[in-house]
Amino acid sequence: MRILVVEDEPTLRMQLAQAIGGAGHTVEAVGDGAEGHYLGDVEDFDAVVLDLGLPVLDGLSVLRRWRAAGRNMPVLILTARSAWQEKVAGMDAGADDYLAKPFHMEELLARLRALLRRLGEHGSAQWQCGAIALDTRAARVLVDGQPLQLTSHEFKLLSLLMQRKGEVLSRTELSEHLYPHDSDRDSNTIEVFVGRLRKKLPAGSIETVRGLGYRLVEEPA
Ligand code: CA
Repeated sequence: MRILVVEDEPTLRMQLAQAIGGAGHTVEAVGDGAEGHYLGDVEDFDAVVLDLGLPVLDGLSVLRRWRAAGRNMPVLILTARSAWQEKVAGMDAGADDYLAKPFHMEELLARLRALLRRLGEHGSAQWQCGAIALDTRAARVLVDGQPLQLTSHEFKLLSLLMQRKGEVLSRTELSEHLYPHDSDRDSNTIEVFVGRLRKKLPAGSIETVRGLGYRLVEEPA
């Protein structure tokens, strides 16, 4: 796998590059936000480790710009331990996971494995459901051949629904898929994400099965 590391502290950057490289990945490591943003924008990475406090362009802006441009690769952000606001802002900006500094390298590698595993679970397939086509590798969604802009949460939600189209998925299940490490996840937020996704998809694509959950259907009723 190809991993991008954006961290301005030289020692930590080197440690990250060594540890991730030692786990068998190809690592590109850069020290400022502008360079990191550029690389993540023009090159394909399987995952990114992104520090938030960065010179030139801060990590949150880097992440927001990628997501706004439809770059949906998994991103793990590094935050300051005390700053819970940073975590919230990071997840809102489209981060897939976060780790507070200082951290154990083993934990970082475990989190990275989990992110890559979720990527792998989807394979590199192109899924089709009615007019909706989802390319897991390019992290791209087309509806009737037209590209659809989704946030990373919306993309993950749609991925799971497409992977298991026709099946009813509970809010708990969807919530666990979106927030694998968060012990106080809230399944009510799933309603919000499903609502947003519905507005972007052909009408009737996501059915509500009362009391059970949601189902993606091929032929909207
Ligand atoms: Ca920093």
